[in-house]
Amino acid sequence: MTARPDHILLLAGTREARLLAGTLAGTFPKARITASYAGVVRDLPDPGVPVRVGGFGGVEGLTSYLIAEAVSVVIDATHPFAAQMSRNAVAAAASADIRLLRLERAVWTPVEGDTWVSAASMEEAATALPCDARAFLAIGRKDIDCFTRRPDIHAVARMIEPPETVLPDHWELILSRPPKLAEEEVALFKDRRITHVVTKNSGGKRSSAKIRAARHLGLPVIMVRRPDLPAALTCSDTPDLLIAVRQTMSF
Ligand code: NAP
Repeated sequence: MTARPDHILLLAGTREARLLAGTLAGTFPKARITASYAGVVRDLPDPGVPVRVGGFGGVEGLTSYLIAEAVSVVIDATHPFAAQMSRNAVAAAASADIRLLRLERAVWTPVEGDTWVSAASMEEAATALPCDARAFLAIGRKDIDCFTRRPDIHAVARMIEPPETVLPDHWELILSRPPKLAEEEVALFKDRRITHVVTKNSGGKRSSAKIRAARHLGLPVIMVRRPDLPAALTCSDTPDLLIAVRQTMSF
């Protein structure tokens, strides 16, 4: 009887995950690798391995998938703010008795010249903006409602896909993807007379230009802290993750 190949389920949605997919395929050529996307954005990048798109149906659905598809290891390489998926992955992997590894990029930390206001949530970030602020919102589409409740501010909201909520007439919506150059961000902030930058602490280089631009212009940054996640074996870079994956493989 031929043994089934190891099956790696890669929970994707980040640049690191896309790159990791190719690295896994090159490092473990005998393994079956599936990259999973939430399917929130159009024009999904091709990670070079088979892809599945859409939610699993909570912990129960993911547990069923892990068992039915004979997954041998789950790699959570989702965005640091995709907390529900990460929580579900921990619970489902435990339930199916499968190893879970998390790839998590380092948080951004303030350096000299930064003025950061730390916020525990989007609600707190929205409250932290003073009346008449001209805010640059780099918070994605899902949480924009927290800010539309502040008609006393002006905002330039940048996101990849348009929000479901209609933005106030006096706001500006910019649909665009990272990366950006710090010089581009400086020009944008000056042109729109931005007074505050609001962002999630996503970490990584790809979307950090806005932080450097805020530093350059002396603008305060309202930095939303990452959600708490249940403990998991976590690696901050791909080489460490590959070592951990190798330990789970059957060949
Ligand atoms: P979430 O709240 O953690 O996930 C919500 C649901 O979407 C999950 O419960 C799951 O549905 C499904 N899902 C999420 N990631 C998935 C994946 N890789 N494969 C299959 N299903 C997945 O995350 P979110 O709603 O997508 O985003 C939350 C925050 O993270 C937002 O602020 C967003 O801007 C940021 N973010 C997310 C991604 C991403 O790829 N998810 C990328 C960049 C930024 P089921 O429960 O049905 O399985």
